[in-house]
Amino acid sequence: METKEQKIKRFNKHLNSIPLEVLLTKNEEQAVQNEKDFQNLKEALAHDKCSFCGNLLSHFSVYKPCFHWLLWKAKGLRKKHFSILFKQKGFHEIEAYLRWVANCDVPIKNINDLVEEKSSNKFIETTIRYKNIEWSFSCSYGDFHGHKDKHEGIMPHYHFQMKISSNVVINYNGFHIPFNDYDEFCFNVEDGEFDRLRAGHIHGAGMQTLFENLSPEELINGMRKSDDESNAQFDVSTLIEADEGTTISGDDIASMFQESKKTGIPMSKLIQKLKNVKTQTFISPGPGVPEIAARKKNRRNKIVANSKVG
Ligand SMILES: [Zn+2]
Ligand SMILES: [Zn+2]
Repeated sequence: METKEQKIKRFNKHLNSIPLEVLLTKNEEQAVQNEKDFQNLKEALAHDKCSFCGNLLSHFSVYKPCFHWLLWKAKGLRKKHFSILFKQKGFHEIEAYLRWVANCDVPIKNINDLVEEKSSNKFIETTIRYKNIEWSFSCSYGDFHGHKDKHEGIMPHYHFQMKISSNVVINYNGFHIPFNDYDEFCFNVEDGEFDRLRAGHIHGAGMQTLFENLSPEELINGMRKSDDESNAQFDVSTLIEADEGTTISGDDIASMFQESKKTGIPMSKLIQKLKNVKTQTFISPGPGVPEIAARKKNRRNKIVANSKVG
């Protein structure tokens, strides 16, 4: 049998044999197709339909397992039926579907895939929310290598939790879901094993993509003050320190508060106008981002980005 290294080598050779123009054209075609598929999913969801099987979300047949089962609207669907779906769809397919569904509602902030919030002994730990549904994936390094000494979960696998209105309907311990060949391929892409393939999310982007691709300055410049702070995507706090020999005018700060209230421009941006001060802004995920549902409770990390702004 071919080893992992041999497989990677063979596929790299194949990729490198494709002319660059052909690869770029294929990429573009795929991007157009993804855009179409995403819009179709959004449109279908708005009409309680599934863009994958074409049926209503309430449709259920054990012979036709489909992604839309994950929305828990299929009539007659029980927890036990998920073993059928998990046999047919791999982790990356299921996760990608849920990322898209979440982003159909509000982009990015429904997906907590922050590396900073993941516990260090987990290979995968992500929580995705859509309306009253919350899905979570968990894979420890032990799961990823397989529980060799146990009866269940000998193969590399992950665990899945699903909550409806805060009630657990599928518990983490309910299934040891094996990764399939496509997952193995995706992990290799994520590890950067292929010279011409890069992993990344577009329609499925979550908080991690945002923090990776935008600098704290860019994040702040793009922010608007949230009307409802309990729903805010970011939690921003700012430290202002006057330069030696100068003082900060309380009036200046007070008038900025007023301006922020009136215009919706966040304080963190307005204070950049202050002269003779050093400011430091801390950005962390706000209360509007779902907390990662840990298999074992882990504490929310306070600071994700820390940089000097202005
Ligand atoms: Zn369907
Ligand atoms: Zn396990």
